[in-house]
Amino acid sequence: MNIPKSNLPRILIIGGGFAGINLAKTLANKNIQVVLIDKHNYHTFQPLLYQVSSSGLEPDSIAYPLRKIIKKHKTSFFRLAEVEQILPEDKQVLTSIGAISYDYLVLATGTKTNYFGNKGIEDNSMPMKTVPQALNIRSLILQNFEKAAIADSKEEREAYLNFVIVGGGPTGVELAGAIAELKNNILPRDYRDLNAIDMCIHLLEGASRVLPPMSEHASNKSAQFLKDLGVQVHCNTFVKDYDGLTVTTNSDLVLQSETLIWAAGVTGAPVLGLNADALVENANRYSVNEYNQVESYSDIFAIGDIALMTSEEYERGHPQVAQPAIQQGKLLGKNLLRLIDKKPLKPFIYKDKGSMATIGRNKAVVDLKAYKFGGFFAWFIWMFVHLMSLVGFRNRVIVLFNWTYNYINFDKAARLIIRPFKK
Ligand SMILES: Cc1cc2nc3c(=O)[nH]c(=O)nc-3n(C[C@H](O)[C@H](O)[C@H](O)COP(=O)(O)OP(=O)(O)OC[C@H]3O[C@@H](n4cnc5c(N)ncnc54)[C@H](O)[C@@H]3O)c2cc1C
Repeated sequence: MNIPKSNLPRILIIGGGFAGINLAKTLANKNIQVVLIDKHNYHTFQPLLYQVSSSGLEPDSIAYPLRKIIKKHKTSFFRLAEVEQILPEDKQVLTSIGAISYDYLVLATGTKTNYFGNKGIEDNSMPMKTVPQALNIRSLILQNFEKAAIADSKEEREAYLNFVIVGGGPTGVELAGAIAELKNNILPRDYRDLNAIDMCIHLLEGASRVLPPMSEHASNKSAQFLKDLGVQVHCNTFVKDYDGLTVTTNSDLVLQSETLIWAAGVTGAPVLGLNADALVENANRYSVNEYNQVESYSDIFAIGDIALMTSEEYERGHPQVAQPAIQQGKLLGKNLLRLIDKKPLKPFIYKDKGSMATIGRNKAVVDLKAYKFGGFFAWFIWMFVHLMSLVGFRNRVIVLFNWTYNYINFDKAARLIIRPFKK
């Protein structure tokens, strides 16, 4: 791997997501060697992936090179590799580019898409977990518009213009709203040979309301926003199967669609090699104590989405969102320094800053502990929080410019099929 040998203790971080980069930043330029490994050479700001899918932003404004994050960290190294196995007895990790040893290992591998074992859905639907997947969705939407414009029959045209999004959580709701804006603002202008009325956006949610993790106020408000935008919301609806054209559900609803976007769930992305009791099987997350130490290991830690830390308040672990990952990354950094200095560790206490989702222009919902609201002010807060959370000044400027341009012009500028998607 060509990492220089040193007398400093080596902390090996797997995963450059929110948890991994906050840990790496906290450990910068300390008396330790940090090695960060990720299978991508960039950090992905996943909350804005849906804007790449819906032509609102280019991927380079939500992704950030990992080497750039650590460029001023003198004792830190990055390697582009997929981690394949952990050998805890040897204090080693096997990767696609060779083996590497560690003194302390931190697993920050996040989650992967969960298809709940349905092969038809896995093979034919579009996931949205990575930048390439978001670009695939963007290409497919635009290709469908082009194909609909030359379709021979009404049925064929409708299948190209029917967009089915499964999962009414924040991701599904935000994407449905963004695709509805494409229909309302872009289709009538760019595709005068198509009738926007023929385009349908269906949002399918298994629970009785959209945004189930948020308050009823947020659910009701966002359902109304979606309706105003023309999205057809189907609650209590599970997809049974999808063969690439026909969507069957647990109800009478059967849809014909060339596009099914799967935003219905994630499961942990663990690495092979640890004892069975380290992993909570049904969640695929590592069981950790209040210091993020993985069950039965003193030198292996897990943070972020992949870690399951239970407490009285969070009996099923913290929500798999950015804030617990950021806060755990920062605290573990300080705790590892304490551990090396043989000082007592501090337990993790999650500071819940609330949750929010945007449905479209001037339409968002915010749940704070004391106050819940929706509409323009919520939308403004949503934009501000997401802008400030982006990694890198350049990315913030580009996103701000794009949002301002889109707002003034009712436009989505990134309507480019750069890499055509082949089903
Ligand atoms: C579409 C979408 C929208 C979201 N919207 C929001 C939102 O609005 N607000 C919010 O708070 N949260 C949101 N989330 C959730 C949030 O993004 C996650 O909670 C957060 O990214 C978790 O951070 P993490 O560091 O644990 O994992 P991740 O950010 O997922 O990072 C994991 C990293 O590990 C790397 N990796 C994984 N396995 C390996 C391996 N074997 N070898 C090498 N590298 C590996 C991956 O490449 C990745 O870089 C969203 C998630 C998605 C998918």
